[in-house]
Amino acid sequence: MNSRKNKVLLIYTGGTIGMVQDESGALQPFAMERIYDALPLLHRTNYIIDSCQLEKIIDSSNMTPEFWIDIATIIEQRYDEYDGFVVLHGTDTMAYTASALSFMFKNLSKPIVLTGSQLPLGMLRSDGRENIICALEIASCKDVVMPEVMIFFENHLYRGNRSTKVSAENFDAFSSFNYPSLAKAGITISFKSHLSLPLPEGKLKVRKQFDNRIAVLKLFPGITSEVVTAIVRTPGLQGLIVETFGSGNAPTEPWFIDALQEALNRDVIVFNVTQCKAGAVRMRQYQASCDMDRIGVIGGHDITIEAAVTKMMYLLGNFPNDKAKVCDRLGKSLRGEMSIEGETDDF
Ligand code: ASP
Repeated sequence: MNSRKNKVLLIYTGGTIGMVQDESGALQPFAMERIYDALPLLHRTNYIIDSCQLEKIIDSSNMTPEFWIDIATIIEQRYDEYDGFVVLHGTDTMAYTASALSFMFKNLSKPIVLTGSQLPLGMLRSDGRENIICALEIASCKDVVMPEVMIFFENHLYRGNRSTKVSAENFDAFSSFNYPSLAKAGITISFKSHLSLPLPEGKLKVRKQFDNRIAVLKLFPGITSEVVTAIVRTPGLQGLIVETFGSGNAPTEPWFIDALQEALNRDVIVFNVTQCKAGAVRMRQYQASCDMDRIGVIGGHDITIEAAVTKMMYLLGNFPNDKAKVCDRLGKSLRGEMSIEGETDDF
Protein backbone atom coordinates (compact mmCIF):
# COMPACT_ATOMS: atom_id res chain seq x y z
CA MET A 1 0.00 0.00 0.00
CA ASN A 2 1.20 3.48 -0.81
CA SER A 3 1.69 5.21 2.55
CA ARG A 4 2.95 8.47 1.13
CA LYS A 5 0.80 11.34 2.31
CA ASN A 6 -0.83 13.29 -0.47
CA LYS A 7 0.09 16.95 -0.77
CA VAL A 8 -2.21 19.87 -1.50
CA LEU A 9 -1.31 23.46 -2.24
CA LEU A 10 -3.78 25.95 -0.75
CA ILE A 11 -3.72 29.24 -2.63
CA TYR A 12 -5.40 32.23 -1.05
CA THR A 13 -6.54 35.01 -3.37
CA GLY A 14 -8.95 36.97 -1.14
CA GLY A 15 -12.72 37.12 -0.77
CA THR A 16 -15.10 36.97 2.19
CA ILE A 17 -13.56 33.78 3.50
CA GLY A 18 -10.55 35.69 4.83
CA MET A 19 -12.10 39.08 5.43
CA VAL A 20 -12.28 41.18 8.58
CA GLN A 21 -14.23 44.33 9.32
CA ASP A 22 -12.44 47.69 9.12
CA GLU A 23 -13.33 50.72 11.34
CA SER A 24 -16.32 51.58 9.15
CA GLY A 25 -17.67 48.03 9.36
CA ALA A 26 -16.89 47.27 5.69
CA LEU A 27 -15.31 43.88 4.93
CA GLN A 28 -11.68 43.97 3.79
CA PRO A 29 -9.47 41.04 2.73
CA PHE A 30 -6.89 39.95 5.28
CA ALA A 31 -3.78 37.73 5.12
CA MET A 32 -3.40 33.93 5.07
CA GLU A 33 -2.53 33.53 8.78
CA ARG A 34 -6.07 34.54 9.55
CA ILE A 35 -7.30 31.34 7.95
CA TYR A 36 -5.07 29.18 10.12
CA ASP A 37 -6.10 31.13 13.25
CA ALA A 38 -9.74 30.56 12.45
CA LEU A 39 -9.23 26.97 11.38
CA PRO A 40 -6.47 25.35 13.49
CA LEU A 41 -7.84 21.97 12.35
CA LEU A 42 -5.97 22.55 9.12
CA HIS A 43 -2.80 21.57 10.95
CA ARG A 44 -4.25 18.11 11.79
CA THR A 45 -5.20 16.56 8.47
CA ASN A 46 -3.81 13.24 7.16
CA TYR A 47 -2.50 14.94 4.05
CA ILE A 48 0.10 17.65 3.79
CA ILE A 49 -1.07 21.21 3.17
CA ASP A 50 1.28 23.93 2.01
CA SER A 51 -0.08 27.38 1.47
CA CYS A 52 0.67 30.57 -0.37
CA GLN A 53 -1.17 33.69 -1.36
CA LEU A 54 -1.30 36.08 -4.27
CA GLU A 55 1.00 39.06 -3.92
CA LYS A 56 -2.11 41.22 -3.78
CA ILE A 57 -5.15 39.88 -1.89
CA ILE A 58 -8.35 41.12 -3.48
CA ASP A 59 -12.10 41.26 -3.25
CA SER A 60 -12.92 39.20 -6.32
CA SER A 61 -14.84 42.10 -7.82
CA ASN A 62 -11.37 43.39 -8.74
CA MET A 63 -10.53 40.21 -10.64
CA THR A 64 -8.78 40.62 -14.02
CA PRO A 65 -7.06 38.26 -16.49
CA GLU A 66 -3.72 39.25 -14.90
CA PHE A 67 -4.82 37.58 -11.64
CA TRP A 68 -5.95 34.46 -13.54
CA ILE A 69 -2.46 34.31 -14.98
CA ASP A 70 -0.92 34.74 -11.51
CA ILE A 71 -3.01 31.87 -10.10
CA ALA A 72 -2.22 29.65 -13.10
CA THR A 73 1.48 30.45 -12.82
CA ILE A 74 1.60 29.39 -9.15
CA ILE A 75 -0.08 26.09 -10.03
CA GLU A 76 2.10 25.53 -13.09
CA GLN A 77 5.34 26.19 -11.20
CA ARG A 78 4.43 23.78 -8.39
CA TYR A 79 2.41 21.30 -10.43
CA ASP A 80 4.76 18.33 -9.99
CA GLU A 81 5.09 18.79 -6.22
CA TYR A 82 1.37 18.46 -5.39
CA ASP A 83 -1.47 16.01 -5.90
CA GLY A 84 -4.10 18.72 -5.98
CA PHE A 85 -4.76 22.43 -5.57
CA VAL A 86 -7.34 24.43 -3.63
CA VAL A 87 -7.92 28.07 -4.53
CA LEU A 88 -9.65 30.25 -1.93
CA HIS A 89 -11.51 32.89 -3.88
CA GLY A 90 -14.25 35.48 -3.47
CA THR A 91 -17.60 34.12 -4.55
CA ASP A 92 -18.57 37.08 -6.75
CA THR A 93 -16.38 36.16 -9.70
CA MET A 94 -15.39 32.62 -8.75
CA ALA A 95 -17.24 31.11 -11.71
CA TYR A 96 -15.29 33.37 -14.10
CA THR A 97 -11.94 32.37 -12.59
CA ALA A 98 -12.89 28.68 -12.60
CA SER A 99 -13.88 28.96 -16.26
CA ALA A 100 -10.73 30.88 -17.21
CA LEU A 101 -8.47 28.36 -15.46
CA SER A 102 -10.28 25.46 -17.12
CA PHE A 103 -9.39 26.82 -20.55
CA MET A 104 -5.81 27.73 -19.58
CA PHE A 105 -4.94 24.20 -18.37
CA LYS A 106 -4.85 21.80 -21.28
CA ASN A 107 -4.25 18.13 -20.30
CA LEU A 108 -4.86 18.75 -16.62
CA SER A 109 -4.40 15.50 -14.68
CA LYS A 110 -4.88 16.83 -11.12
CA PRO A 111 -7.83 18.45 -9.36
CA ILE A 112 -8.02 22.22 -8.97
CA VAL A 113 -10.84 23.08 -6.55
CA LEU A 114 -12.03 26.63 -5.98
CA THR A 115 -13.99 27.50 -2.88
CA GLY A 116 -14.89 30.44 -0.67
CA SER A 117 -17.64 31.38 1.73
CA GLN A 118 -20.60 33.64 2.28
CA LEU A 119 -19.54 34.46 5.87
CA PRO A 120 -15.94 35.17 6.94
CA LEU A 121 -14.13 32.26 8.57
CA GLY A 122 -13.80 34.17 11.82
CA MET A 123 -17.57 34.29 12.28
CA LEU A 124 -19.28 31.61 14.34
CA ARG A 125 -21.74 30.52 11.65
CA SER A 126 -19.25 30.69 8.79
CA ASP A 127 -19.81 28.26 5.94
CA GLY A 128 -16.10 28.57 5.14
CA ARG A 129 -14.92 25.79 7.46
CA GLU A 130 -16.95 23.06 5.72
CA ASN A 131 -16.12 24.40 2.29
CA ILE A 132 -12.36 24.49 2.86
CA ILE A 133 -12.16 21.10 4.55
CA CYS A 134 -14.22 19.39 1.83
CA ALA A 135 -12.30 21.14 -0.96
CA LEU A 136 -9.03 19.95 0.60
CA GLU A 137 -10.34 16.39 0.94
CA ILE A 138 -11.36 16.34 -2.69
CA ALA A 139 -8.04 17.79 -3.87
CA SER A 140 -6.04 15.32 -1.73
CA CYS A 141 -8.16 12.23 -2.40
CA LYS A 142 -6.13 9.14 -3.27
CA ASP A 143 -9.00 6.96 -4.43
CA VAL A 144 -10.72 9.28 -6.87
CA VAL A 145 -8.94 11.85 -8.99
CA MET A 146 -11.14 14.35 -10.78
CA PRO A 147 -8.77 15.92 -13.32
CA GLU A 148 -10.47 19.24 -13.87
CA VAL A 149 -11.12 22.74 -12.50
CA MET A 150 -14.08 22.63 -10.11
CA ILE A 151 -16.00 24.67 -7.56
CA PHE A 152 -16.93 23.18 -4.22
CA PHE A 153 -19.67 24.98 -2.36
CA GLU A 154 -22.19 23.92 0.30
CA ASN A 155 -21.90 20.16 -0.20
CA HIS A 156 -21.70 20.20 -3.97
CA LEU A 157 -18.80 19.83 -6.35
CA TYR A 158 -19.45 21.42 -9.72
CA ARG A 159 -17.54 21.61 -12.98
CA GLY A 160 -16.03 25.10 -12.80
CA ASN A 161 -16.97 26.20 -16.30
CA ARG A 162 -20.60 25.10 -15.77
CA SER A 163 -21.05 27.00 -12.50
CA THR A 164 -22.84 30.24 -11.77
CA LYS A 165 -23.24 32.24 -8.58
CA VAL A 166 -26.97 32.24 -7.91
CA SER A 167 -27.37 33.69 -4.42
CA ALA A 168 -25.91 36.60 -2.50
CA GLU A 169 -27.69 35.32 0.59
CA ASN A 170 -27.84 31.54 0.85
CA PHE A 171 -24.99 29.23 1.73
CA ASP A 172 -25.70 27.20 -1.41
CA ALA A 173 -24.55 30.11 -3.52
CA PHE A 174 -23.63 28.19 -6.69
CA SER A 175 -25.45 26.09 -9.18
CA SER A 176 -24.74 24.23 -12.38
CA PHE A 177 -27.92 24.18 -14.42
CA ASN A 178 -26.76 22.39 -17.51
CA TYR A 179 -24.48 19.74 -16.02
CA PRO A 180 -24.95 17.51 -12.95
CA SER A 181 -22.78 17.98 -9.86
CA LEU A 182 -19.61 15.91 -9.82
CA ALA A 183 -19.81 14.95 -6.14
CA LYS A 184 -22.02 15.42 -3.11
CA ALA A 185 -20.67 15.71 0.43
CA GLY A 186 -22.71 14.00 3.13
CA ILE A 187 -21.31 11.66 5.74
CA THR A 188 -18.96 10.63 2.97
CA ILE A 189 -18.11 12.43 -0.23
CA SER A 190 -19.77 10.50 -3.04
CA PHE A 191 -17.99 11.14 -6.29
CA LYS A 192 -19.61 10.69 -9.67
CA SER A 193 -16.34 10.18 -11.46
CA HIS A 194 -18.06 8.97 -14.64
CA LEU A 195 -19.21 12.59 -15.08
CA SER A 196 -15.72 13.99 -14.80
CA LEU A 197 -13.39 14.72 -17.69
CA PRO A 198 -11.17 11.75 -18.61
CA LEU A 199 -7.53 11.64 -17.54
CA PRO A 200 -5.56 13.17 -20.40
CA GLU A 201 -2.82 11.40 -22.27
CA GLY A 202 -0.76 14.42 -23.28
CA LYS A 203 1.54 16.66 -21.27
CA LEU A 204 0.22 19.64 -19.32
CA LYS A 205 0.16 22.86 -21.31
CA VAL A 206 -0.72 26.17 -19.69
CA ARG A 207 -1.74 28.97 -22.04
CA LYS A 208 -1.71 32.46 -20.57
CA GLN A 209 -2.91 34.77 -23.31
CA PHE A 210 -6.16 36.69 -23.00
CA ASP A 211 -7.62 39.48 -25.09
CA ASN A 212 -10.22 41.39 -23.07
CA ARG A 213 -11.38 43.64 -25.93
CA ILE A 214 -14.83 42.11 -25.83
CA ALA A 215 -18.29 43.28 -24.79
CA VAL A 216 -21.49 41.68 -23.51
CA LEU A 217 -24.70 43.10 -24.93
CA LYS A 218 -27.61 42.04 -22.74
CA LEU A 219 -30.89 42.40 -24.61
CA PHE A 220 -34.10 43.67 -23.03
CA PRO A 221 -37.45 44.63 -24.48
CA GLY A 222 -37.20 48.26 -25.57
CA ILE A 223 -33.42 48.33 -26.06
CA THR A 224 -32.55 51.27 -28.33
CA SER A 225 -30.49 51.29 -31.47
CA GLU A 226 -28.30 54.01 -29.87
CA VAL A 227 -27.21 51.62 -27.12
CA VAL A 228 -26.61 48.71 -29.51
CA THR A 229 -24.73 50.89 -31.97
CA ALA A 230 -22.56 52.43 -29.24
CA ILE A 231 -21.47 48.97 -28.08
CA VAL A 232 -20.93 47.63 -31.59
CA ARG A 233 -18.79 50.67 -32.45
CA THR A 234 -16.57 50.38 -29.36
CA PRO A 235 -13.06 51.17 -30.65
CA GLY A 236 -10.88 48.07 -30.91
CA LEU A 237 -13.71 45.64 -30.20
CA GLN A 238 -12.76 42.05 -31.18
CA GLY A 239 -15.63 40.00 -29.83
CA LEU A 240 -19.26 40.60 -28.89
CA ILE A 241 -21.42 38.30 -26.79
CA VAL A 242 -25.12 38.93 -27.33
CA GLU A 243 -27.14 37.72 -24.34
CA THR A 244 -30.34 36.75 -26.08
CA PHE A 245 -33.79 35.64 -24.99
CA GLY A 246 -34.87 32.03 -24.54
CA SER A 247 -33.36 29.66 -27.06
CA GLY A 248 -31.23 32.40 -28.62
CA ASN A 249 -33.79 34.87 -29.91
CA ALA A 250 -33.41 38.58 -30.59
CA PRO A 251 -35.41 41.41 -32.18
CA THR A 252 -35.95 40.91 -35.91
CA GLU A 253 -35.91 44.68 -36.51
CA PRO A 254 -33.64 45.56 -39.47
CA TRP A 255 -31.69 48.12 -37.38
CA PHE A 256 -30.68 45.38 -34.95
CA ILE A 257 -29.51 42.89 -37.56
CA ASP A 258 -27.75 45.73 -39.43
CA ALA A 259 -25.83 46.63 -36.27
CA LEU A 260 -24.63 43.03 -35.83
CA GLN A 261 -23.79 42.87 -39.53
CA GLU A 262 -21.72 46.04 -39.11
CA ALA A 263 -19.78 44.36 -36.30
CA LEU A 264 -19.18 41.23 -38.39
CA ASN A 265 -18.05 43.36 -41.34
CA ARG A 266 -15.40 44.83 -39.05
CA ASP A 267 -14.22 41.31 -38.19
CA VAL A 268 -15.80 41.35 -34.72
CA ILE A 269 -16.84 37.83 -33.67
CA VAL A 270 -20.46 37.66 -32.49
CA PHE A 271 -21.49 34.89 -30.05
CA ASN A 272 -25.11 34.13 -29.15
CA VAL A 273 -25.55 33.13 -25.46
CA THR A 274 -28.92 32.77 -23.81
CA GLN A 275 -29.99 34.78 -20.76
CA CYS A 276 -31.73 31.64 -19.45
CA LYS A 277 -29.88 29.81 -16.72
CA ALA A 278 -30.89 26.39 -18.05
CA GLY A 279 -31.24 25.16 -21.61
CA ALA A 280 -29.51 26.02 -24.82
CA VAL A 281 -29.37 28.35 -27.80
CA ARG A 282 -30.96 26.72 -30.84
CA MET A 283 -30.42 28.97 -33.79
CA ARG A 284 -33.19 28.74 -36.38
CA GLN A 285 -35.70 27.21 -33.96
CA TYR A 286 -37.60 30.51 -34.17
CA GLN A 287 -37.63 33.06 -36.90
CA ALA A 288 -36.20 35.44 -34.28
CA SER A 289 -32.78 33.80 -34.58
CA CYS A 290 -32.73 32.97 -38.31
CA ASP A 291 -31.23 36.30 -39.36
CA MET A 292 -28.44 36.03 -36.81
CA ASP A 293 -27.63 32.56 -38.08
CA ARG A 294 -27.70 33.78 -41.69
CA ILE A 295 -25.22 36.61 -41.12
CA GLY A 296 -22.70 34.43 -39.24
CA VAL A 297 -23.43 34.80 -35.52
CA ILE A 298 -22.09 31.74 -33.66
CA GLY A 299 -24.47 29.80 -31.39
CA GLY A 300 -23.32 29.29 -27.79
CA HIS A 301 -25.36 26.13 -27.11
CA ASP A 302 -25.75 25.78 -23.32
CA ILE A 303 -22.62 27.69 -22.27
CA THR A 304 -22.77 29.93 -19.18
CA ILE A 305 -22.06 33.61 -19.59
CA GLU A 306 -18.99 33.21 -17.35
CA ALA A 307 -17.58 30.48 -19.58
CA ALA A 308 -18.51 32.42 -22.72
CA VAL A 309 -16.68 35.57 -21.58
CA THR A 310 -13.51 33.75 -20.55
CA LYS A 311 -13.52 31.41 -23.55
CA MET A 312 -13.80 34.31 -25.95
CA MET A 313 -10.97 36.22 -24.23
CA TYR A 314 -8.87 33.05 -24.17
CA LEU A 315 -9.38 32.18 -27.83
CA LEU A 316 -8.86 35.77 -29.03
CA GLY A 317 -5.67 35.92 -26.93
CA ASN A 318 -4.35 32.68 -28.36
CA PHE A 319 -5.28 33.24 -32.01
CA PRO A 320 -4.70 36.99 -32.34
CA ASN A 321 -4.49 36.87 -36.12
CA ASP A 322 -6.83 34.06 -36.95
CA LYS A 323 -10.49 34.82 -36.39
CA ALA A 324 -11.51 31.69 -38.30
CA LYS A 325 -9.82 29.54 -35.65
CA VAL A 326 -11.50 31.53 -32.86
CA CYS A 327 -14.91 31.02 -34.51
CA ASP A 328 -14.30 27.35 -35.08
CA ARG A 329 -13.35 26.68 -31.46
CA LEU A 330 -16.05 28.89 -29.97
CA GLY A 331 -18.60 26.52 -31.44
CA LYS A 332 -16.91 23.44 -29.97
CA SER A 333 -16.56 22.17 -26.43
CA LEU A 334 -12.96 22.50 -25.25
CA ARG A 335 -13.17 21.47 -21.58
CA GLY A 336 -16.71 20.16 -21.18
CA GLU A 337 -18.20 23.67 -21.03
CA MET A 338 -20.92 22.85 -23.57
CA SER A 339 -23.05 19.75 -24.10
CA ILE A 340 -22.13 18.88 -27.65
CA GLU A 341 -21.81 15.21 -28.42
CA GLY A 342 -18.58 14.15 -30.05
CA GLU A 343 -17.33 17.65 -30.72
CA THR A 344 -14.50 18.09 -28.29
CA ASP A 345 -11.64 19.98 -29.78
CA ASP A 346 -7.94 19.45 -29.24
CA PHE A 347 -6.98 23.00 -28.31
N1 ASP B 1 -17.13 40.42 -2.46
C1 ASP B 1 -16.66 39.12 -2.07
C2 ASP B 1 -15.73 38.61 -3.13
O1 ASP B 1 -16.17 38.09 -4.12
C3 ASP B 1 -17.80 38.19 -1.85
C4 ASP B 1 -17.41 36.81 -1.37
O2 ASP B 1 -16.30 36.40 -1.27
O3 ASP B 1 -18.35 36.07 -1.10
O4 ASP B 1 -14.54 38.74 -3.03
